[in-house]
Amino acid sequence: SKKDLPKPSWLKVQTADSPNYHRLRDTVRSKGLATVCEEAKCPNIGECWGGGDDGTATATIMIMGDTCTRGCSFCAVKTSRKPPPLDLEEPEKVAQSVGGWGLDYVVLTSVDRDDLPDQGSGHFRAVVQAIKRENPDMLVEALTPDFQGNHDMIDAVATSGLDVYAHNIETVERTTGRVRDRRANYRQTLAVLARAKETKPSLITKTSIMLGLGEEDDEIMQTLRDLRENGVDVVTFGQYLKPSRRHLPVKKYVTPEKFDEWGEIALGMGFLYAPSGPLVRSSYKAGEFFLSALVK
Ligand code: SF4
Ligand code: SF4
Repeated sequence: SKKDLPKPSWLKVQTADSPNYHRLRDTVRSKGLATVCEEAKCPNIGECWGGGDDGTATATIMIMGDTCTRGCSFCAVKTSRKPPPLDLEEPEKVAQSVGGWGLDYVVLTSVDRDDLPDQGSGHFRAVVQAIKRENPDMLVEALTPDFQGNHDMIDAVATSGLDVYAHNIETVERTTGRVRDRRANYRQTLAVLARAKETKPSLITKTSIMLGLGEEDDEIMQTLRDLRENGVDVVTFGQYLKPSRRHLPVKKYVTPEKFDEWGEIALGMGFLYAPSGPLVRSSYKAGEFFLSALVK
């Protein structure tokens, strides 16, 4: 049937309201940078910007523009074969802005830029380097495109001074063709994560899985094994939510209890960290974990 499943009660969220949240919102607005937190109306903004349980604030910044060369069927970002050129001042702008935000942990993410000769890998590297130069104590995570599996491009980002190399597998192998752009591929995503780790073993590698797209439990288990075999350190699980009428339907709302189970299973398999819940997103309170568990 074409009718949407009714939304369960656990997907209702509290509104964001803390001094830290308001301060961050005001500075972000004044600098004119785009955050995924705001653009995607992320339900976790109160917790992430507000500083979570230990006061560690996390935000996700979009770089390389708002137009993607790909069109995944779960994603609301707009698509074009030839997006506008990169802003060459972006590395400096981002580096200076995040310093004033009182952030401990910044996540950089981008659209895919298959149109550029280096697919934007050099620009990604320059942004990380500029942030680290201006803010040596800030931890940086990059949620990267697949760079079509190109080793030089992966290495350019992996060796940029980055702390966490993230690239999302999104879904199990069988449903990949239906969910992700046809240029994306399950095996390639595993290979990208393996390459980043091989190039720089001290990097934390990280990926995210959306649940509710028609995947079976044994397929999720297989994906987790595949990720561990490729050295992936961190996995997050969240509920797929259809961003608009035109997007893929939600096949199932996974219960909070089932999410807890996946988190436990992943930890049992050796993942260092496995946040799992209906509203967990790739960058959900990322700083809280990394600052407490990984920085000695
Ligand atoms: Fe969205 Fe990323 Fe897919 Fe582009 S590659 S459509 S930004 S999920
Ligand atoms: Fe921003 Fe990610 Fe937190 Fe959402 S989960 S508010 S996108 S940092």
